[in-house]
Amino acid sequence: MTDVRRPAGALTAPAAPFLFRAHPGPGLEVAFTSVDAGNLAFHVSGVVGVSGTPAAGRTSSKGGDGAGDDANGAGDPRERVKASRRGIEAALGIPPGRTEYLTQVHSARVVPAAGRGWGESPAAEEADALVSPTGRDPLAIMVADCLPVVFASRRSVEATAAVGRDGRARVSGPGAGGTGPLTGPTAVAHAGRRGLLDGILQNTVERMRREGSGHEPGDIQAWIGPAICGRCYEVPEQMRRDGTAQIPATHSTTTWGAPALDLPAGAQAVLESLGVTVHRSPVCTREDSRLFSHRRDPGRGRFIGLVWRREEGQGTSPREGSEGSEGNEGNEGSQGSQGSQGSEG
Ligand SMILES: [Zn+2]
Repeated sequence: MTDVRRPAGALTAPAAPFLFRAHPGPGLEVAFTSVDAGNLAFHVSGVVGVSGTPAAGRTSSKGGDGAGDDANGAGDPRERVKASRRGIEAALGIPPGRTEYLTQVHSARVVPAAGRGWGESPAAEEADALVSPTGRDPLAIMVADCLPVVFASRRSVEATAAVGRDGRARVSGPGAGGTGPLTGPTAVAHAGRRGLLDGILQNTVERMRREGSGHEPGDIQAWIGPAICGRCYEVPEQMRRDGTAQIPATHSTTTWGAPALDLPAGAQAVLESLGVTVHRSPVCTREDSRLFSHRRDPGRGRFIGLVWRREEGQGTSPREGSEGSEGNEGNEGSQGSQGSQGSEG
């Protein structure tokens, strides 16, 4: 994926705290934040600096990622998380508090968007993937080494023929596979080792198709964001054996010769086997300090992968309409498979 943090002149927005951002379809935002966006997870801030308990990197920690908890006073880490979340929303033109987050529990559970963001929902649902049938719910997934996977899709021909839930006829040609705009369902998924092996990605794709995403190859596109790479993610030998038995593409060895799992490669293999077009970030969270990494720096924070399709005329992203070639084509073309992998070590 293209790294937009140090753009070559095309980026007109004031330094937005994104490692990657693209507009692959009409009104469609796909973004991954960097450390400059701040920690975006309540459960991390709620542990570190408050109780003093090591965070242990558990994205499964309870404590909720919804809003509604009372602030504990000035300088409360929760207030900082709220401010950071609003900052990202402002940068993208999303109404404050409207982004939907989950309480992530390393499950394979997919839930539909609730239609309410973190600002109004007292507690986020426990699940590890979110699907927006219309694509109009801003969805976020939090990570720090686990894989953030963001999805967008074209509507199926059947769904296209019908009038959409919002009362508008869908714009997409017959046999739209490969050519129509990405105006179908969107999704985000949190795929750590367990979720990946338990089928979170398959479940997400299945749910998207049930909600109207096309079944043709390329009708669903996925962005695998920055995650710990196969040269860094050391696991016990037995764990590598088990993982590899299930998804052979995960087999890996660290740069220091220990057994490892390559989760991004595994996710790519799973998604491609389902006919999903994959865009994969070459960036490793453990090796790149622009991102939070649990293994490098436990408990410091979480960044997010986000997808949102704004209504026509909705939002006022500073970049909207100003980027020309950085849409679908530019993005796909510049990613290659792992073009800049070499620089990641
Ligand atoms: Zn790495």
